[in-house]
Amino acid sequence: MEKITLTINGQEVEARKGMTVLEAAEAAGIYIPTLCSDPDLEPYGACRLCVVEIERMRGLPTACTTQATDGMVVHTETPAVNQVRCFAAELLIADHPSDCLTCPQNQRCELQKVAAYLGITHQPFGKTTRVLPVDTSNPFFDRDLNYCILCSKCVRVCDEILGVGAIDLIFRGYSSKVATFDDGPIINSNCVSCGECVVHCPVGALIPKGAMQPTREVETTCPYCGVGCQIYLGVRNNQVISVRGKREGTVNKGSLCVKGRFGIPEFVHHPDRLTVPLIKRDGKFTEATWDEALDLVASKLGNYKDQIAVISSAKCTNEENYVIQKFARAVLTTNNVDHCARLCHAPTVVGLVQSFGSGAMTNSINEIRDAACILAVGTNTTSAHPVIGLEIKKAVNKGAKLIVANPREIDLCRFADMWLQQRPGTDVALLMGMMRVIVDEGLLDQTFIEERCENFDAFKESLGKFDLDSVEQITGVPRDKVVEAARVYATNCPATILYAMGITQHSHGTDNVIATANLAMLTGNMGKPSTGVNPLRGQNNVQGACDMGALPNVYPGYQAVANPVLKEKFEDAWRCSLSPTPGLTLTEMFEAAYQKQVKALYIVGENPMLSDADANHIREALDHLEFLVVQDVFLTETARLADVVLPAATFAETDGTFTNTERRIQRVRKAVAPPGDSRTDWWITCQIAQRMRSKGFDFSHPSEIMDEIASLTPSYGGISYGRLKEGGLQWPCPTEEHPGTPILHTTQFTRGKGKFIPLEYKPPMELADDDYPLILTTERSLYHFHTGTMTRKVRGLNILRGGELVQINPKDASALGIADGDEVKVTSRRGQVVAKAKVTEVSPVGVIAMTFHFAESPTNQLTNPALDPVAKIPEFKVCAVRVEKNGKPAGGSA
Ligand code: SF4
Ligand code: SF4
Ligand code: SF4
Repeated sequence: MEKITLTINGQEVEARKGMTVLEAAEAAGIYIPTLCSDPDLEPYGACRLCVVEIERMRGLPTACTTQATDGMVVHTETPAVNQVRCFAAELLIADHPSDCLTCPQNQRCELQKVAAYLGITHQPFGKTTRVLPVDTSNPFFDRDLNYCILCSKCVRVCDEILGVGAIDLIFRGYSSKVATFDDGPIINSNCVSCGECVVHCPVGALIPKGAMQPTREVETTCPYCGVGCQIYLGVRNNQVISVRGKREGTVNKGSLCVKGRFGIPEFVHHPDRLTVPLIKRDGKFTEATWDEALDLVASKLGNYKDQIAVISSAKCTNEENYVIQKFARAVLTTNNVDHCARLCHAPTVVGLVQSFGSGAMTNSINEIRDAACILAVGTNTTSAHPVIGLEIKKAVNKGAKLIVANPREIDLCRFADMWLQQRPGTDVALLMGMMRVIVDEGLLDQTFIEERCENFDAFKESLGKFDLDSVEQITGVPRDKVVEAARVYATNCPATILYAMGITQHSHGTDNVIATANLAMLTGNMGKPSTGVNPLRGQNNVQGACDMGALPNVYPGYQAVANPVLKEKFEDAWRCSLSPTPGLTLTEMFEAAYQKQVKALYIVGENPMLSDADANHIREALDHLEFLVVQDVFLTETARLADVVLPAATFAETDGTFTNTERRIQRVRKAVAPPGDSRTDWWITCQIAQRMRSKGFDFSHPSEIMDEIASLTPSYGGISYGRLKEGGLQWPCPTEEHPGTPILHTTQFTRGKGKFIPLEYKPPMELADDDYPLILTTERSLYHFHTGTMTRKVRGLNILRGGELVQINPKDASALGIADGDEVKVTSRRGQVVAKAKVTEVSPVGVIAMTFHFAESPTNQLTNPALDPVAKIPEFKVCAVRVEKNGKPAGGSA
């Protein structure tokens, strides 16, 4: 990094070449007042407060727009400079209310600071008489433009960082103001309520509703998606009252989405929280003491031997998942333990292990911005992983080529160079078609293939079936586009592949995953910065729950239960006898329950009544159980069916760690006490184990559990709470000295050589026909998380998205006589669901989309439970349905 030297106010200052004068001054600790400059934004030069004198330069340039050069001599405090600054500040003050004491921004207002710095004590100009209406339409923040100083930060944040462009400056001169497209309430605009503009506003014009100052802040990790944003929970009177993003955080650098920024305090302190154990007697729940509930659970669970199963939770900490799987294996003596990764990324785990030897994201989130090409396939990133969506936009702003492959016209398409609109379930054909082009045109990385990979010839032969005519016919993507996408991906290095559940949730999800691995290896886009295959994990700790062995075939760290050496290692450590037989997957557990082969189920923090495919069958399976225990923070749809409900603590009430999608283990810290008699999940499970007379569950703090994890899990060997104080660490981190691993497979693959695997195209298990003429695909809303257990408790999120929407193409809607907002009935071979129609071009002709967040319209009653034969994931992304206007059958067919 080239250094330069300049002089500011007589002081010699060293700076990085390319810095502005303002940046150089700030880096040297020299204050220059400014209201419109922001380190996150391009220089703007509007407020004129940062004017300086520069020797041999005419006039008074703004420091924020002037580049520092070697030998430059700058003066920041001359009489001429201060005169201009004072005049600019006085004009702003004249147009600004002076009720500072009652302004929520008091003490944190940048205008106040500037006025104090400049010594402005009186108001030389007359006060403004303009009064603008306050926009209170957004459920989370108010816009009072009477306080606005027209710095344009909000406009620039919304455009430059978010790429949303919900607001802009309109009119000129005195009438100038920030407004939405039609100058209407912000709720009616395309604003996504991320709150970034609120954070960047220097004055009291954009203020969170009900803003109060916390008395202390606790650093922790967002409990929603797998991005793992770092946050500070603001606490006052033992209540979480605010959230702010950690700017120094590696993952999100202060950015948050609407759920993380505004969706936490209300669910944590919701009156519906479970606060006492419940035991069902004569079909009704009655409150119980912990002794009663735990004794009952302990006495029952011991009776079922192989006829019992445990479902752990991707919402729980690593320590809790570790304890739960240890409880299943060491106490219940079964490997029947699994969690909802089975429903999202099981194909990632088994697919990438076959190709690379490790089933996790190969690279890191903050490398995405430096990619020359991004292939985003089967990921609606701005909805499901919003802060990673910001990384993609950063890369595009820097010139990266973005290829979006998705059947639906998702938001990312606005930023894409190419949109490949493949038919649902045809990803293998699309990716193999691209690979065929790369091979035929000699765009492959021969050296990488020869030196780092194996089985290339067999794979190459399997490309024979993917000629461009066949690919176009299967996928619906014109052959020219397949060719262009292949060339763009292969020739713009480094190229990274991002994918999510659009790839995995298929009856051939493992093949889809392997196709992405083949593509990355073919072009040598592996083991280097900004390359790789990057599965974006859904829930906050789904990566960690997998790492902790909440899976039926592996102990923590993916150590096979069937391996006698590893079995002995865990038997020695846990002082017990373990089963060598892999257990049932989550999907198999429910089938076994239906068949009455599994008779008791202990479910922690999951809600299969809404999250699992063919939910009516799940309900029947649960009804067949003899004993069901559910441990959760709310009385979920599943908990209502339980014999015993154990009240658990939220992430804000416990210590522990989550592992985010990029394998980064990060601290979760207790901010407040759990309400009533609710307890942390690890404590509850340990109590049950102890009442079943098992040893090894007498932990007094989660740090002790992490020490045990580290002692038994090579990839977590160097992890301890002491080290995590300074921030997260990415596994593998095998020793206390190891710095963690941002990029996998750098010199060799985890399995040695990367393995090319031949593939063939397999269609989805259910296709449209005369009875069910449309395809249903499922998705996630930006405003809700998983089965809505937490986000549906947040009033503002329900205002922004209050119910299920059946997204249907205008052509299909018109053929069915359906108008936007009509109530429609969606029917599949497995069930019927009623919801409102949203007529939109986002859905292609013949395809409808629904989420699974809303208990009132349980979409998974429709979905197909057909399983991927290897990963055992159901085909959530494709099932055949019929749609009709509710109340009367609609005419025509789509
Ligand atoms: S909340 Fe986010 S999307 Fe809405 S105006 Fe502000 S920056 Fe733009
Ligand atoms: S609302 Fe705030 S951020 Fe936006 S222009 Fe006004 S003062 Fe600046
Ligand atoms: S992107 Fe994910 S982790 Fe970050 S704030 Fe949003 S929900 Fe939380």
